[in-house]
Amino acid sequence: MNVPTQEQIICGYCGWQNNVSPQALEKVQVRCSRCKLNLSTQKHSHFKHLDPAVYMHPTAAEALQQLKNLPGVQNLLGKMQALGEQSFGEAFFAANGLRVGPKQYPDLYGKLMAVCRTMGIHQMPALYLSYVDIFGDMGFYTYSGGSEAHPFIVLSPQLLSTFDEMDLLAALATEIGHIHCGHLRYKVAADCLPLIMHKAFKKTPLEAMAENISLPVQQALLTWRLKANLSADRTMMLVLQNEKASFNYLLKQTGGTVSSRASLEAFVQQAQQLNHGMVQQWLDKYWQQFLYSHRVFSFPVWRAAELLQWTREDQKSYGYKDIVKIFSD
Ligand SMILES: [Zn+2]
Repeated sequence: MNVPTQEQIICGYCGWQNNVSPQALEKVQVRCSRCKLNLSTQKHSHFKHLDPAVYMHPTAAEALQQLKNLPGVQNLLGKMQALGEQSFGEAFFAANGLRVGPKQYPDLYGKLMAVCRTMGIHQMPALYLSYVDIFGDMGFYTYSGGSEAHPFIVLSPQLLSTFDEMDLLAALATEIGHIHCGHLRYKVAADCLPLIMHKAFKKTPLEAMAENISLPVQQALLTWRLKANLSADRTMMLVLQNEKASFNYLLKQTGGTVSSRASLEAFVQQAQQLNHGMVQQWLDKYWQQFLYSHRVFSFPVWRAAELLQWTREDQKSYGYKDIVKIFSD
């Protein structure tokens, strides 16, 4: 364990020993020289043994159970397993994107270390920066795929110019959330569904598989996919430990290019006033199937509303503050 001297501050996020005195930090804001996140003398909590079932959003957990119970789903997942193997997704990004590491975008690598360190994840997934994705122009700016044994994350380099340091940490934390919650097997199937339904796959072995995916299975997969973000958002909040930065990340996904002029306060107010029942109804119908070829939508206002409830209200299960209090080291 690193023991700081009087002239050093250990970064709470990534664990790097920075040559900065606590006195200097009181006067000026300093970034960690590895992960570029702001240094602080405040404690950053770590969750070494946190079972994801403790914090997963009940709506997402219920949707996953419904999906698992549907006839034909396990068969479909078995057939789609090849899409989660290294030879498909990761091979594509390894050949097209930059592999982030200690010598390639070390600050981004430091942030990935910070997320894994906070969530008690020992096997860091591979991280790539890639302009191209296997989904064409479908708007995936962040993606996680692969298998439980070999997960990987992809970020679009465009994010480096529109996101600040905390937004990048949030993006990585959200993708790690999917990995931590055991979503990958279902997520890869849901994310690849539009791909295999695409006309480009006509007359390939995938066509027969696509034709056999029933409408209820498609619907359950896509509905769960949208709801799964609610659990990943909670991971993001557990990593950031900063409400303002967490909501700001969701705001950035709502306000597009003018987000720097957007008001966080008004966004949170909008989220507070959102009619949850109507959103749930929308998700539980089949509307998303009309839109799944344009996967740019992810309901960030609704996600903010759900995240807000987790931080503010008395919960039947553990709320954000309970988890930090009970489960952090
Ligand atoms: Zn750091």
